Amino acid sequence: MNSGVGGLKGQKEGVSLKQGEKQAFRSGFVAIMGPPNVGKSTLINRIMGGHFAIVTKKPQTTRTAIRAIKNMGYSQVIFTDTPGVHLSQKAFNKLLVQSAKNASREADVILAMVSAQKSQEEDNEFLLSILEEIVGVPKVVAVNKIDKAHDLDVKELVERYSQIPFIHKTLPISALLGSGIDELMGTLIDLLPESPPLFPTDMETDMTERFFASEIIREKVFLLTRNEIPYDIAVEIEQFKEDAEKGLLKISAVIHVNRENQKRIVIGKNGNLIKKIGMLSRQDLEEFFQIHVFLELWVRVSRNWMKNPNMLKELGILT
Ligand code: GDP
Ligand code: MG
Repeated sequence: MNSGVGGLKGQKEGVSLKQGEKQAFRSGFVAIMGPPNVGKSTLINRIMGGHFAIVTKKPQTTRTAIRAIKNMGYSQVIFTDTPGVHLSQKAFNKLLVQSAKNASREADVILAMVSAQKSQEEDNEFLLSILEEIVGVPKVVAVNKIDKAHDLDVKELVERYSQIPFIHKTLPISALLGSGIDELMGTLIDLLPESPPLFPTDMETDMTERFFASEIIREKVFLLTRNEIPYDIAVEIEQFKEDAEKGLLKISAVIHVNRENQKRIVIGKNGNLIKKIGMLSRQDLEEFFQIHVFLELWVRVSRNWMKNPNMLKELGILT
């Protein structure tokens, strides 16, 4: 890891203290915005040092705002990982854009992630146009994946964004390798309001165990169905019950799909695929919860659930 690990700037150098003066605590919300696949989950995982958001190669896997809380010295940074800001015109994608905007309205700082890769330029421009619409919140741009781009291209991009008036600061990073992360954290912390911690300082997320369970299962559906199932499926946890005596966690989950043919795909020939989804999910669930898991999976066609606000709320997609 070439992260240049050293003290975090915002903590040690950013605030100059007079002798005897108490350092102010800073706590607040940072909304991460960025197109699918730009590396938002990777960044959260890197900062938290653990498996906090699900990372896959398939775009758009983070649909719900995941909140990770980084407690560090005199600061508490609460990250909301907003859904990918997406180019599509579809109603559902508009919903995503809307929920990204909502999340950022509650933020103290917006962290916009763009890619240093040329191929993502169009996504970057779209994100900038959304940023411009959100006023009154400082915006920091992280140019990610610098390990995959030429130094000169990175420099050019950073310089270009640095000149945009509504952007507070632009920093090059590699979420994957860990470079630039200390500087980024320092910048974010300096922009947070002085406030006592908003959450208990031993808390790392406010997401429920049910949510983690559903994300683990959802990831397996993506991985095993490849491109046949659109990202807009949902996994609802109907039962999540620990039997302490037997040392067993019983989980019942429903995989909601839009159409009959999608149901057939998820189930697979002779139920082979759903069995595999169940097996891989159970392995991960057992590792995550450190207990034996009994997993029951159902596939249900829930037509138009994407357009049903009540359903979206129930699944935690709309707040
Ligand atoms: P998200 O959709 O924005 O949450 O993106 P993910 O965090 O899921 O990352 C998408 C893909 O990009 C994954 O394959 C990551 O390993 C990869 N990725 C993320 N950050 C970097 C980076 O700094 N460098 C490189 N080379 N790949 C990265
Ligand atoms: Mg993600």
